[in-house]
Amino acid sequence: MTTSMQDDTDAPSLSDKRPLLPTLDPSLWGKRALVTGASRGIGQAIAVALAQAGVRVFGTATSEAGAQLISQTLRDAIDRAKAAFHPLAHVSNGGAFAGLYDALEQSSEQSLGLVLDVSQSQASEDLLEKLHSEGGIHILVNNAGITRDNLAMRMKADEWQQVIDTNLSACFRLSQSVMRFMMKQRWGRIINITSVVGETGNPGQANYAAAKAGLAGMSRALARELGSRQITVNCVAPGFIETDMTLALSEQQRSQLQQQIPLQRLGSPTDIAAAVLFLAGQSGAYVTGESLQVNGGMFMD
Ligand code: NAP
Repeated sequence: MTTSMQDDTDAPSLSDKRPLLPTLDPSLWGKRALVTGASRGIGQAIAVALAQAGVRVFGTATSEAGAQLISQTLRDAIDRAKAAFHPLAHVSNGGAFAGLYDALEQSSEQSLGLVLDVSQSQASEDLLEKLHSEGGIHILVNNAGITRDNLAMRMKADEWQQVIDTNLSACFRLSQSVMRFMMKQRWGRIINITSVVGETGNPGQANYAAAKAGLAGMSRALARELGSRQITVNCVAPGFIETDMTLALSEQQRSQLQQQIPLQRLGSPTDIAAAVLFLAGQSGAYVTGESLQVNGGMFMD
């Protein structure tokens, strides 16, 4: 147990009011996670949730400014968790909350933002090599994604290719890079962020729907290949979530959408992070090859 935990005067202040997800899961403490596209939206919420659960998180952005923002966001998020759990850790006297608090202190020192364009295979390989030389990756969250919407009749070759490269091929490459380490550890989690659109299709998104449906198929194949080493491979398929990606929706489109969603709201990034946390931790240990639909009921399998 650290001395700072025992001293009430060291309690960090609790300023942010975002809800902390319930995360008392010792299987996550000290694990190392790579979350692609963690500078905004869903990826940011996933990185924050994992870090607040005691995971050492490496989040990626395509720019140096984005990477710095991730580092700062992770530090703030971990401070919030420490502030929330400090009183419990203090009274638990070496119990579970003290363990979480110690893990948070470790992740605070080691979690950070990194620059990566996932469509660049050499850069991805170099980054993974560096991360492996420093301790490997136990949890990979393939979250980075783009849209290049156009009706199929007008879709240009590069609009097709960019989406396939970023949303599908990059996920395979990163999965391939982490699986050797995970196999040696006999433990691993690969979590791919797909989309409801991969199930339903959507006009103007032939490229995006193909990439997301492909990612789900790839995940099932990898789940079969890697299961004997206790590596699970799953997808989380968001519905419509409040992020930069859905900012372009008009008020009319938004209200039409809400009418098709039984829960009558767009999702929040935290809704998706909660599903990722479930799959990453002990609760999801016997789930593999699955696509968890987190869409407010707008599509039911
Ligand atoms: P977002 O707000 O647009 O953020 C995208 C993230 O991906 C950013 O961090 C961005 O980094 C990163 N990124 C983009 N291109 C990249 C590249 N080539 N290499 C590395 N990182 C890259 O997206 P979001 O809405 O949070 O979506 C996250 C994931 O959820 C995506 O896979 C998306 O398809 C999926 N999804 C979203 C929704 C939704 O309604 N929002 C629904 C279903 C599925 P920079 O900041 O550096 O650009």
